[in-house]
Amino acid sequence: MRTPSVYQFIPNSFGLSGSLVSILPDFISVFSDLKPCASGVIKLEEIDGARELCRRHNLKIDFSDFKLAISSKSTVKTKLAADHKGGQEWRQVFISKSDKILKQAKAAHFEHTFYKGEIQTAPRSIIKNYGKILGYPQCCAEHLIQCDYDRKFDNAVSGACRNTKIFHHELNNLAYFHYYIPYFPCAYDCRESFEYAEKLKKEIKKIEPNIYDATEKYLKLPYLFLAYNVGIVFNGAMEKEAGTVSYSDFDIIGPVGESLLSALDNGNRCRILDDKIEISRDLEIVNAFSRDNKEKEFMIIFK
Ligand SMILES: [Zn+2]
Repeated sequence: MRTPSVYQFIPNSFGLSGSLVSILPDFISVFSDLKPCASGVIKLEEIDGARELCRRHNLKIDFSDFKLAISSKSTVKTKLAADHKGGQEWRQVFISKSDKILKQAKAAHFEHTFYKGEIQTAPRSIIKNYGKILGYPQCCAEHLIQCDYDRKFDNAVSGACRNTKIFHHELNNLAYFHYYIPYFPCAYDCRESFEYAEKLKKEIKKIEPNIYDATEKYLKLPYLFLAYNVGIVFNGAMEKEAGTVSYSDFDIIGPVGESLLSALDNGNRCRILDDKIEISRDLEIVNAFSRDNKEKEFMIIFK
């Protein structure tokens, strides 16, 4: 049994459905004047519905002119391809109250994606400008740019963890559909991000109380970080022993290996040891997986 993504099943008052549901927190943020522009990805066949929905709520919407390839490899760059063939067609979507900002966001996204006509890392100033239009704090934009330049996206999380004293659940951006901030913070107690998340939280609580309750619960669940955009959210609790979780079910984020999934399905306890990840049921070992990089995988829980 795996935990379903709650937003998919709790109706929202705006009527967001399908792939657009994934930008609900950002949508509310723009609607409530907390950020200039929201962005996400949407399936091509959902575009007309999204236009109509934004019109009803007096919001402006636009889409990238190029398709996106959603790859199972979870780096930003491999997600993007101009002439991706086959599979589901996706577009980047932008939502704002201002036509001017919408135009800027679309142009900045294009420049950021196809710098000099190629899919390559754009100069810092371009990435920072794009982050600014989307309302990301500059300290966090800097942090991600550094990881992008180093081609070490895992560091976006482990670096943020190293910079953190208090792991605020409001800044937990690891749980895919469920978030207040849609970007990687420089630290999980970054002041600017926290202040923003607090404001958005209040709005969501007011407008969508059921989604607020579900989000609050979800963001405090133990998370096994495996790689950038890859991990397990456990519906369970941390045990006294460090890096150990007992769980009843779980949710997968990103592409997780079949053998690990099958072990997790058969187990109810997961622990991270120096050399392995061990899954057991009622203290009987189900399977163990050796760790190639001790620094890499870790168990994290937000307060
Ligand atoms: Zn920051």
